Amino acid sequence: MGRLSDLKRYYLDANAHAPLLPEAAEAYVVALRAAVGNPSSTHTEGRAARAILDQARDSVAALLGARSGEIIFTSGGTESCNLGVLGLALAAPASRRHLICSAVEHHAVLHACEHLRQHHGFSISILPVDNCGRCSLDALKSLAGEQTALVSVMSANNEVGTRQPVAEIGELCRSRGILFHTDAVQCVGREPVLVHNLACDALSASGHKFGSVPGTGFLWLKSGVALAPVTVGGAQENQRRAGTENAAAAASLATALELSLNQHQAPDRARMHDQIENLWQRVAQSVPSVIRNGHPEQRLDNTLSICVPGASSEDVMIAADLEGLSLSSGSACMVGSALPSHVLLAMGLGRELASCAIRFSLSRELEEDEVSEVVARFARVITRVKG
Ligand code: PLP
Repeated sequence: MGRLSDLKRYYLDANAHAPLLPEAAEAYVVALRAAVGNPSSTHTEGRAARAILDQARDSVAALLGARSGEIIFTSGGTESCNLGVLGLALAAPASRRHLICSAVEHHAVLHACEHLRQHHGFSISILPVDNCGRCSLDALKSLAGEQTALVSVMSANNEVGTRQPVAEIGELCRSRGILFHTDAVQCVGREPVLVHNLACDALSASGHKFGSVPGTGFLWLKSGVALAPVTVGGAQENQRRAGTENAAAAASLATALELSLNQHQAPDRARMHDQIENLWQRVAQSVPSVIRNGHPEQRLDNTLSICVPGASSEDVMIAADLEGLSLSSGSACMVGSALPSHVLLAMGLGRELASCAIRFSLSRELEEDEVSEVVARFARVITRVKG
């Protein structure tokens, strides 16, 4: 191992936070200087801020094939998921007090559902997943009834990368008059997402997953769908999210979304897909008894989740950091928690194996010829940890 200061670092944790795009940082600073008023004020300074906000909204909407009024800016993915789940459920008719969400949702969705159960009298059904992390449509068909207000199923899982059949879920919900929210935090900005093709009512996204400054996100809400606001005290965002808007953050998000989509065209995504396969092949050759998690085909292009039996996630992450590899056990939001991942448990892994999970999530920064160096370092880490 080289000295820390000499060591080239490999950042392999894009699902937790993607590298900030310089253009998005620049857009933020420029907008911060230009948006000198409150967007709700009618004077010149306020109108300057409003113009920046409106332009960002128009641009995000155009990139998603949406209408401007359908974009509600939020402080990130968590707030967007909270607003989607709480807002849709609380606006649904009183006869519908049942929710369905998948077992592998991010806690931003799971805890919002739990909140509705504890404080608003909703019941919850958890949609199970198979050992690849995918929900079954048949299970959804049997759970979705006349009292179901909302189904929330993520587009792709942040820990293992498995994609869900959102188009089919959306069609099923639509045919039964049930609202459908999808957490698309790991998809928006990394692949084309055209909202009206998805048959959903609301979709969540987070700016820092695609190169915007952190603290940015949005909820796409289909025109005409009722939403109960979660924050109150102002008429901003068309009465759907009270609080002074952050025009500079919105400008950064809009810039990052456009650039990131340009950088993730089909050939770029294919390259990343091949890179992950290459990474997996080499890890499988160098690390005995390693297991791959997630769906073999229906998965994010940039994500590889593995378990190395006998090497705990925590030990591996610490040793990997010293080797210049920034890795994750799966969910940055669960750091500090001694619990194994709820996603891996739902996929049928035992607790012991689930506590040995490691996720590689690539950004565009990793070069093809760097994969072997990453694997060599990772193999050294495992040897040291298993001791
Ligand atoms: N949903 C998913 C699938 C995520 O991966 C994350 C973050 O990792 C979130 C929601 C929360 O997003 P944010 O970090 O912007 O609050």
